[in-house]
Amino acid sequence: NIEELFETPEQRRKKEAEARAAAAKSEREKIALGRSQLPVYPYREQLLKAVEEHQILIIVAETGAGKTTQVPQYLHEAGYSAAGKIGCTQPRRVAAMSVAARVAYEMGVKLGNEVGYSIRFEDCTSDKTILKYMTDGMLLREFLSEPDLASYSVMMIDEAHERTLHTDVLFGLVKDIARFRPDLKLLISSATLDAEKFSEYFDYAPIFKVPGRRYPVDIYFTKAPEADYIDAAVQAVMRIHVLEPEGDVLVFLTGQEEIEAMEELLRQRMRGKGTQLSEMIICPIYANLPSELQAKIFEPTPPGARKVVLATNIAETSLTIDGIKYVVDPGFAKQNSYNPRTGMESLVVTPVSKASANQRAGRAGRTSAGKCFRLYTAHSYENEMEDNTVPEIQRTNLGNVVLMLKSLGIHDLMNFDFMDPPPAETLLRALEQLYALGSLNDKGELTKLGRRMAEFPLDPMLAKTLLASETFKVSEQIATICAMVSVGSSVFYRPKDKAVYADNAHRNFARGGVGDHMALLAVYDGWAESGFSTQWCFENYIQVRSMKRARDIRDQLVGLMERVEIEMLGDPSDLDAIKKAIASGFFYHTAQLRKDGSYRTVKHPMMVNLHPSCSLNPPRREGQPLIQSLPRWVVYHELVLTSKAFMRTVSEIQPAWLVEIAPHYYDRKELLEGEGAAKKVPKGAKARTALDAAVAAGVD
Ligand code: ADP
Ligand code: MG
Repeated sequence: NIEELFETPEQRRKKEAEARAAAAKSEREKIALGRSQLPVYPYREQLLKAVEEHQILIIVAETGAGKTTQVPQYLHEAGYSAAGKIGCTQPRRVAAMSVAARVAYEMGVKLGNEVGYSIRFEDCTSDKTILKYMTDGMLLREFLSEPDLASYSVMMIDEAHERTLHTDVLFGLVKDIARFRPDLKLLISSATLDAEKFSEYFDYAPIFKVPGRRYPVDIYFTKAPEADYIDAAVQAVMRIHVLEPEGDVLVFLTGQEEIEAMEELLRQRMRGKGTQLSEMIICPIYANLPSELQAKIFEPTPPGARKVVLATNIAETSLTIDGIKYVVDPGFAKQNSYNPRTGMESLVVTPVSKASANQRAGRAGRTSAGKCFRLYTAHSYENEMEDNTVPEIQRTNLGNVVLMLKSLGIHDLMNFDFMDPPPAETLLRALEQLYALGSLNDKGELTKLGRRMAEFPLDPMLAKTLLASETFKVSEQIATICAMVSVGSSVFYRPKDKAVYADNAHRNFARGGVGDHMALLAVYDGWAESGFSTQWCFENYIQVRSMKRARDIRDQLVGLMERVEIEMLGDPSDLDAIKKAIASGFFYHTAQLRKDGSYRTVKHPMMVNLHPSCSLNPPRREGQPLIQSLPRWVVYHELVLTSKAFMRTVSEIQPAWLVEIAPHYYDRKELLEGEGAAKKVPKGAKARTALDAAVAAGVD
């Protein structure tokens, strides 16, 4: 029969539809099978029963057990979402996004519909959203508009052991809410934690433990300390790649810059080795990585190749990558450090704790036996590393959180129910700073300005800058500058082999010594004028991704500014007005030139330097900077502590402005005396070295 050899279009369509259905069915089956193999699965019924019986439950299960992706789904399947949303907090934005994407995929829905996420400056949820993943900071902000979390039926505070500042504050808030909302279920979950301590804090809530499955991990230490851990990490990865059987590698680094540098070094080492060595797939993962690239780390490694994941400590517990057999651990992480005495806050590369190091090693033994190579000696592990990481609340500036708590009507901060209270000195300093910024009055009550500042998901100093921009009629420009500084240091692209071209291109933006803030403004305005062109970014050695993010942030800031009725005005040429607005928020961060070309911070004398990337660095003659061309007074955005204390993102200011802008913080006499003191360090206020400050700011 000739017709059997042919087909009609209808027959064709039907066949295709059947094939699609079969593929979808096998996809659904594969997902279901995968879910049923996770360690939490056998405990599903028991867990649901425990949630039903108790309002608050502490859940402890090994990383990768399925806490984050499965527990909210179980609760949804059991009907909890009928009464309200199921929320789940994550300390890190990448984790919130990635986990939400995974759960949307498992549930077969579009991300942003039934399953969504909310992170600062990005809301990917809708009216349909029933499972909502969010950063702990975003949930804290939600309290401002919904103080009883009325739209939620379940709230899961995940990764509780991380003890981030926001998570710690949430503990106090949700514990309080649970008392007058008996219908709200509260889950506190974590990989490893001092479960008894958490249980006790939450009025002896029961602990639900899921036994872990772990394979043995052999741990190796270096014989002698490593001088350059990036270099040592590159060596270690290359050795693994050449000598060890197949299995993926996970390297822990401290941030985007290190990750990019190491990626480049590995690529160089692999170049031209295509025939001798098997393929190496390098996958970076850090907070600002665009979401398209985040998914790459989860793609299965093709046979014969090896995946090398370069991660920040996000991969310590927040994200689980299957197939890791080797861990390379230099033993460092970036931590914020705060000295309440001087008000100095900085990011410091710090040795991790033993608990962290052990979590990291554990990542190698999830699916089979593994190896962990530590780039430090057994002696330093034993004698120099702390047992546990100090909770962030005890080592950070609390300005932001205090402003938020005040806006929530919590006045008595000294008696707030903190799991581990912050040092009283830090709280006082935060109150004092908010008073100096004008957000609190002398009774410690929120002012109108403070209320408006709390609307912005920004540090109080940046929020104040935005509000001050109205007075100086430069709100357009300040919105841009605030968006650009919020993106971080990743705006300027500086490939090693083209550093000279890049530096030249970048210098154009800071022409005339206008300073770094104005340079950031010039970059944004240049990009906007080009019609937001990608080509323009290439030509100027600017990271287009960072610019797109800056544009998103700017749009949101402008929206919020309209909400608090700030008129959008602007004059891009009014340099002084723009810098005065910045100084209005950042008068804490001012420094004065010293004779040797370094700077001395004004209120609490400390020696600081212009960051090498700063556009105000003068040309050098015979290796020496021309000190006479350095600005005498500067305001800086942030302090970075590495070999020295560096001010990053700096602009010149006039000392007279400080008196005008912050009269209750600076008086004229003091500043004039300061002028004289520029030449020698005043008696009794010995300028402290970066190291002293780091030690003082660190852990007692
Ligand atoms: P836990 O929260 O207990 O650490 P998770 O729920 O995050 O565990 O992870 C459970 C499993 O889901 C792990 O095997 C992990 O590899 C997998 N998984 C999580 N996110 C993704 C993703 N985006 N892509 C692929 N697999 C994922
Ligand atoms: Mg998790």
